[in-house]
Amino acid sequence: AVKYQRISKSFGHTPVLRDIVLDIPGGSTTCVIGPSGSGKSTLLRCTNLLERPDSGRILIGTDAITDPGADVDRIRTRVGMVFQKFHLFPYHSVLDNVTLALRQVLGKSRDEAVEVARTQLATVGLADLQDRRPAQLSGGQQQRVAIARSLAMKPEVMLFDEATSALDPELVKGVLAVMRDLAAQGMTMIVVTHEMRFAREVAQQVVFLDQGHLIEAAPPDQFFDAPSSPRLRAFLNEVP
Ligand code: ATP
Ligand code: MG
Repeated sequence: AVKYQRISKSFGHTPVLRDIVLDIPGGSTTCVIGPSGSGKSTLLRCTNLLERPDSGRILIGTDAITDPGADVDRIRTRVGMVFQKFHLFPYHSVLDNVTLALRQVLGKSRDEAVEVARTQLATVGLADLQDRRPAQLSGGQQQRVAIARSLAMKPEVMLFDEATSALDPELVKGVLAVMRDLAAQGMTMIVVTHEMRFAREVAQQVVFLDQGHLIEAAPPDQFFDAPSSPRLRAFLNEVP
């Protein structure tokens, strides 16, 4: 589970997150939607301490990761993150992209790391491509490598920041299918996305951010069919 307890964050004098209170139950998927600049990425980045909130607390399980003494490296292994751009290492094979952190961060032997990596690559449908370089893969395949690399660390929570937004339309499906499977297996996920259908079908909770405010958090049926806030209603009317 992830709990946000009154998170606020400003860049300079600009408030970007304002007093966010949100619970993400363990084993569930929450989708986050909202206009550009509303604070979606910042919220995710605070969740693995790529950014630090100015105030408030974030709990992963029972651990307050925002407390001053918290071990940032350890938290990053517990919270996996997948970005719009895949950030793979271009000069390493697919297999090595997945094994590197296992060896360097978790201290696994080469053999152990390879075994974990092969298993993860198989679960995202890439068992046959482990010897290729990232440039020899489609964007969708590269994104699935990035997901496998995150999953190999056995995170408790997975964060996805517009993981399909940079992909050609025909490649989006395969990546969403991997995310769907992961949700079905009970991973705790926070997914920033424009894919409303995915949100409706996969999420247990959908959240709307606007100008750093959490405007609405509700189960998908209620969120999409009976939104209580006029701002969310207006936003949903604008998207196709
Ligand atoms: P998008 O849909 O375009 O990805 P977003 O909802 O993810 O938008 P954020 O990236 O969280 O929005 O940004 C929220 C606000 O904070 C924006 O006004 C942005 O310009 C600002 N911002 C984000 N990161 C920084 C930073 N490192 N320094 C200064 N301002 C920042
Ligand atoms: Mg963003």
